Amino acid sequence: MDMQTSFLDRLFDAGLLIDTGVDGLYGRSGQFEDVIAAFERLIDRFADDNAEVIRFPPGMSRAIFEKSGYMKSFPQLAGTVHSFCGGELDHMSLLKCMEVGDDWTKDQKATDIALTPAACYPLYPTIARRGRLPATGGLFDLQSYCFRHEPSKDPARQQLFRMREYVCMGTEEQVTEFRQSWMDRGVKMMEAVGLDVVIDVANDPFFGRAGKMLANNQRDQNLKFELLIPITSTAQPSACMSFNYHQDAFGTKWGLELDDGSVAHTACVGFGLERIALALFHHHGLDVTEWPVAARKALWG
Ligand code: 5GP
Ligand code: ZN
Repeated sequence: MDMQTSFLDRLFDAGLLIDTGVDGLYGRSGQFEDVIAAFERLIDRFADDNAEVIRFPPGMSRAIFEKSGYMKSFPQLAGTVHSFCGGELDHMSLLKCMEVGDDWTKDQKATDIALTPAACYPLYPTIARRGRLPATGGLFDLQSYCFRHEPSKDPARQQLFRMREYVCMGTEEQVTEFRQSWMDRGVKMMEAVGLDVVIDVANDPFFGRAGKMLANNQRDQNLKFELLIPITSTAQPSACMSFNYHQDAFGTKWGLELDDGSVAHTACVGFGLERIALALFHHHGLDVTEWPVAARKALWG
């Protein structure tokens, strides 16, 4: 058995994750949730910068999702919500289809909702609608369940997981400074809970051959960094945070303007909350009462 499957089985056996029959879709125990809640309070303490708190649901406007270009870059990861929209005859044929084990989903119609792929996606058009940003720019605190279609036995790769994000909108200087300050804070936070990390340049999993070029370009320009912690592999540690500089790409796409009318630059910093909890359980053991005192103190005071 590989390390990923054996860690997943241990998490099931300990009751921390609950099997649903679908790889990457798990229930979580009260203990697991308590670790995430404690870590989020730690994030709050490190943030301390008056970001505007906004919470979007895990589904977003399909129109906005389409305009975002997600299907160009990551069609393999996307999820859309489909529903039954027919009449009584259609309903009868649907039930018959289910009864004989045929594919009943093919007649489902797309709704106006797509599953949120990253917590910040619904934010940009929302803020653009308000008009120009104030002279100080914009700073936002987000959290959302996110969907990515990548079923896996690796507990660190889930299909529905929570992402806490901070997003900064402003000048190039403001947003790159924001990103650097979170790289420093990220390292300090993980140190406080007893996790060894490295930060490395990274790229998003852009689809196809054209995607390879986009990924290389992203790396060459240092647009994405990740904070990596070993969870189910020491050779390939998992990204538990990412630090992304979008230049003026989202500003241009969504019409985000600074107070002088120039296009806003944006950056976002994402925490993978399940991954951080898993890194803690992997590193300190499945029984939180046995965790090092310093880590427990940082989390629970
Ligand atoms: P990114 O937008 O950089 O791909 O993702 C932001 C953060 O979300 C990652 O650094 C990671 O912590 C978390 N994340 C990304 N994909 C997954 C996943 O498949 N499962 C889990 N649990 N977290 C993920
Ligand atoms: Zn983001």
